[in-house]
Amino acid sequence: MAVAGLAIFMQDTSGQRLQTALSPWNSDQEGEELYRMVSELYPICRSITGDGVRESLRLLQRQAPLTLREVPSGTKVFDWAVPKEWNIRDAYIKNRRGEKVVDFQESNLHIVNYSVPVRKKMGLSELRSHLFSLPDTPDWVPYRTSYYKEGWGFCVSQHQLESLVEGEYEVCIDSTLAPGHLTYGELRLQGATDDEVLISSHCCHPSLCNDNLSGMAVAARLAHHLSERSLRYSYRFLWIPGTIGSITWLALNEKYVSRIKHGLVLSCVGDAGGFTYKRSRRGNAEIDRVVENVLKHSGGGYRLLDFTPHGYDERQYCSPGINLPVGCFMRTPNGAYPEYHTSADDLSLVKPMSMAGSLHHLLQIMTALEENQSYLNLNPKCEPQLGRRGLYHQVGGTKNAAAEDAMMWTLNFSDGAHSLLDIAERSALPFATISAAASQLENAGLLAKVGGARS
Ligand code: ZN
Repeated sequence: MAVAGLAIFMQDTSGQRLQTALSPWNSDQEGEELYRMVSELYPICRSITGDGVRESLRLLQRQAPLTLREVPSGTKVFDWAVPKEWNIRDAYIKNRRGEKVVDFQESNLHIVNYSVPVRKKMGLSELRSHLFSLPDTPDWVPYRTSYYKEGWGFCVSQHQLESLVEGEYEVCIDSTLAPGHLTYGELRLQGATDDEVLISSHCCHPSLCNDNLSGMAVAARLAHHLSERSLRYSYRFLWIPGTIGSITWLALNEKYVSRIKHGLVLSCVGDAGGFTYKRSRRGNAEIDRVVENVLKHSGGGYRLLDFTPHGYDERQYCSPGINLPVGCFMRTPNGAYPEYHTSADDLSLVKPMSMAGSLHHLLQIMTALEENQSYLNLNPKCEPQLGRRGLYHQVGGTKNAAAEDAMMWTLNFSDGAHSLLDIAERSALPFATISAAASQLENAGLLAKVGGARS
């Protein structure tokens, strides 16, 4: 679906315009690069704090010059405190014969993330109270955490669980949970104005591809592409541990919050499903309307959801005292695919072309935000004569209906009170088609920009 959507878009007017606005776009290459990044990040054991996050952010630095920020444990952040730092070197369960029956080195999902250190022998019944499995999908290992309640546990497949016999087991968790830091990645691209677009993705899940790694990688490539353009907005990228990371950033950067005019949380952007956009709490913010326009005209399937106080860091960005215009851009949403939060969210679930398609749509969305402005028709008394200016029946003598239609709409509603996005919605045309018409009309001296963008 993603591939078809992309192909259709690439043939229409807006697709052609985007291609000229960006450095050469090659979906295959972009998909391969994103997949390579996800493959590199996949084995690292991330958590909400610790060296796994640092190592992952350093890998992303090869794509975009983000800075690693360190916030000490115990720092008060609104109603929360930055937790202790967790690091893990090894963990296993050995049977009486000394064989490892569960081994962290095989998959970091085997350990309940944030498990305290343990070195202990115990019988099967005591051990079982610390084991988690998925009876309905017996080959898969679940993903579990114990962030805010100190404890320990192992996650295993149902087959592994059932193979354990009565007897004594040796449990080893070689971890540390101690005062340290919470680490996040931040990158700011300065545009012509200080008004910002926020792009946020969580970076705290261990070996899970769609939920987490796809968003981290696509955000880094988006930053890479935007850094090559001259920008009207400034862009702030955050790679942060879920929940506590956005709370920490908002608490420590409250003075910058009012600069954020638009924002997106990215997650689950690598599976083969169609797009899902969860609107900001405001519901009709410019970002909500731009995403809807881009998805509506992309030629692929998509779903729009209203804001709910569940999900990812949009919960914090859209909390009532912050209330930023930040939506969540996904393919198949969290919890809506069977592999979610299990070992099956692996490298086979994410597709190079899906990630490339997600990135391509995000670039269209950013292009629309950049170009959305109000114009004034400089020849408002009756229609100007377009033919005399080479704007009518211009494409090789054949009628270009969409472009001419877009010009008529743009001329009529460019009264200073309607933005290009308003006109795109009213005319049911792609934003990029309206924007292309505005640019042609401006070049012909028929339109002039009015102030900044309208929301
Ligand atoms: Zn998750």
